[in-house]
Amino acid sequence: MERAVHVHTDRVDLHTHSLFSDGTLTPTQLVAEAAALGLAGLALTDHDTMDGVDEARAAATAAGMLLVPGIEITTSFRGLSVHLLGYFLDPAHERLRELSAWQRRERDVRAREMVRLLGADFSISWDAVAAHIPPGSTVGRPHIADALVRLGVYPDRSAAFAGALQSNGKYYVAHEALDTVAAIALIRAAGGLPVLAHPAAQRQRRPIPLDRLALLAERGLYGVELDHPEHVAAWVPPLRQAARTLGLVVTGASDYHGAGKPNRLGACTTDLAVVQQMARDANTPLP
Ligand code: AMP
Ligand code: ZN
Ligand code: FE
Ligand code: FE
Repeated sequence: MERAVHVHTDRVDLHTHSLFSDGTLTPTQLVAEAAALGLAGLALTDHDTMDGVDEARAAATAAGMLLVPGIEITTSFRGLSVHLLGYFLDPAHERLRELSAWQRRERDVRAREMVRLLGADFSISWDAVAAHIPPGSTVGRPHIADALVRLGVYPDRSAAFAGALQSNGKYYVAHEALDTVAAIALIRAAGGLPVLAHPAAQRQRRPIPLDRLALLAERGLYGVELDHPEHVAAWVPPLRQAARTLGLVVTGASDYHGAGKPNRLGACTTDLAVVQQMARDANTPLP
């Protein structure tokens, strides 16, 4: 039996993905789902692109909801893969546009390489993968997973991630990525607030070390996402204590990908008052 997700009108989901990266809904459909749940608003945080923000903002305005412009940048921090969220940043910022375009090209190179390696054991081709990716959207392993699902190799994306696409598997290729500290500076330069995404997620195998969190805070990190559906509960309290000591703002969000992942929209959220403070800190007046 499906349990209803309890959400309230003072809650904002600060981490969602659309078809502009590896989610399965358009920004308009995402906003409609958030409205149906009674959320006060949501952030669109597609991987390495802000191209969906205009559509999401138009839909949110029409629905009387708050839309926080955002992005999720895959970064690399001394050998650790670190996902960084940016909020209230300017999508037109030139260097942000250049570097996100570079990251998307690097993701494309890497996806082709993974598909080439998979081709040794599965009847998969780049054309078969690419045919189902909307033009201009950020390419990721979920798109390769979809192709494996179409081939009947796996029932869904999660099974593909647990199988051939796992990050320590023989088909895995890493892509070039911005340094985390450089990405923090970039988000700040674009007028935004850098927030560390899911630092205690199961798939990372261990939480971010506290000394590294302190280093990122020293370099301009604004906040840390501590309520997340994929978090290992036991890993969170030390991070919450560190966030308090370091003066980091704590957020919660679902990392919703539509039908592409089990995470449900609104499963974790942030209080509207926190989001209003974030807007003030970014000098962004809210409507
Ligand atoms: P990539 O960025 O190409 O390495 O792919 C990783 C992304 O795939 C993550 O950021 C998630 O958005 C998504 N992802 C990770 N695990 C799963 C899963 N089990 N099912 C669907 N999507 C996933
Ligand atoms: Zn994703
Ligand atoms: Fe992420
Ligand atoms: Fe995400």
